[in-house]
Amino acid sequence: MPTITFYGGVGEVGGNKILVCDGDTKLMLDFGVSFTSRKRFYADPYLTPRSIDSLIELGVLPRIQGLYRVGEAESPIDAVVLSHPHLDHSGYISLLNRSIPVYCGEATLRVLSAFGETSPRRLELDFTGIEFKTFRTGDRLKIGSVEVEPWHVDHSTPGSYGLIVHTSAGSIVYTGDFRAHGTKPQLTQDFTEAAARADPTAVITEATNTAGAEVSSEEKVKESLMEVVSRAEGLVLASFSIADIDRLRSFIEAARECGRAVAVSMRQAYLLAKLEQDPKLGVPELLKDIVVYRRVKKVYRSWEQAVLKRFESVSAEEASARQRDLIVAASLYDFEDMVKMKPKPGSCYILSSSEPIDEESEVSFTKLLNWLDHFGLPLYHIHASGHILPHQLREKIAEIKPRDIYPIHTPQPKLAEKYLSNLGSRVVSVAAEVSYEVT
Ligand SMILES: [Zn+2]
Repeated sequence: MPTITFYGGVGEVGGNKILVCDGDTKLMLDFGVSFTSRKRFYADPYLTPRSIDSLIELGVLPRIQGLYRVGEAESPIDAVVLSHPHLDHSGYISLLNRSIPVYCGEATLRVLSAFGETSPRRLELDFTGIEFKTFRTGDRLKIGSVEVEPWHVDHSTPGSYGLIVHTSAGSIVYTGDFRAHGTKPQLTQDFTEAAARADPTAVITEATNTAGAEVSSEEKVKESLMEVVSRAEGLVLASFSIADIDRLRSFIEAARECGRAVAVSMRQAYLLAKLEQDPKLGVPELLKDIVVYRRVKKVYRSWEQAVLKRFESVSAEEASARQRDLIVAASLYDFEDMVKMKPKPGSCYILSSSEPIDEESEVSFTKLLNWLDHFGLPLYHIHASGHILPHQLREKIAEIKPRDIYPIHTPQPKLAEKYLSNLGSRVVSVAAEVSYEVT
């Protein structure tokens, strides 16, 4: 009898680690960082994990013999299949036994390589030595006795997939993270239809948006950006996720129409250069209109040198002299440079990612507001979520008609269970590290 066991993503957003066992075949769907449990004990950049044993001891990682990169034990699982490259789904593959192959989309591999190469080499972002096997929509991955069908879905990063796992007792559908209001809703619809055709026994679904779901779209984001950027009379500073290529495109298009260029971070430029070779992503078009924001450093690492060689770059002083020509992508870590940028009256800051959702991000949000207050920059929040809206989730599940629903990746599982309870499927109240039989 196949079983599903959840080692993360239960009552929390992210940290997904879902073990599917069917006979002798054992497969992990995602192996992400549980930021919720990690930040109970750690705070970047000074208090970071130094050993896998510590993470196991603290319950940040599940205690599973042979699973990790310690000793040369035989691996207890056959493979990991990643839904997408966000670290709450993929990050802790860095800690796994190197005999475990990791299946992922081609764009996912590019994003993870860029993350690994541009971060200081430390325990949690060291992806070297992993045997990656890449897939595309339409492939069928044979892993032991099961077959996995990846289907592209729309989410806030390229390389996002829903997975259909065909077991000896029917199919298990895993949504990963997905949405229906982004720039490619058809991808999510294709996945939904394929999932319905599989007549699944179980759907494991994200249910992130339970409180404060905002009805927006990438199109509306672009309109709002246009409104704000076209009227800005000084510098526009902005913050958005570096892997969110749709968002970057919205910024670039808004900037272009307002006679500005987007100055991206060096890390984002490095990532874009990696994604450039993927013909489906349209990155070469984006590269025509960007410059790189050059942080002042005594020594540039080799990847940074490669970026500076390839792209035109601007320093804080140069940005200061060209305030009406630029949108500068700046995170809180770049704010020191504002002293040199000297934003003129009429400048502004655009926060284009999620609002702070917990205490730790509240603390840095307060600091951000202090900086903006000091320099006289109003803050705009212009964003569309990477996650499906509640009513759309109901529609998708109703279309798939699974026998059982397992809502995960949500801060409010009880709410999600009730909200989805009259769709003709049994809703399972998921507990961590309990094995559920799929019959
Ligand atoms: Zn996630």
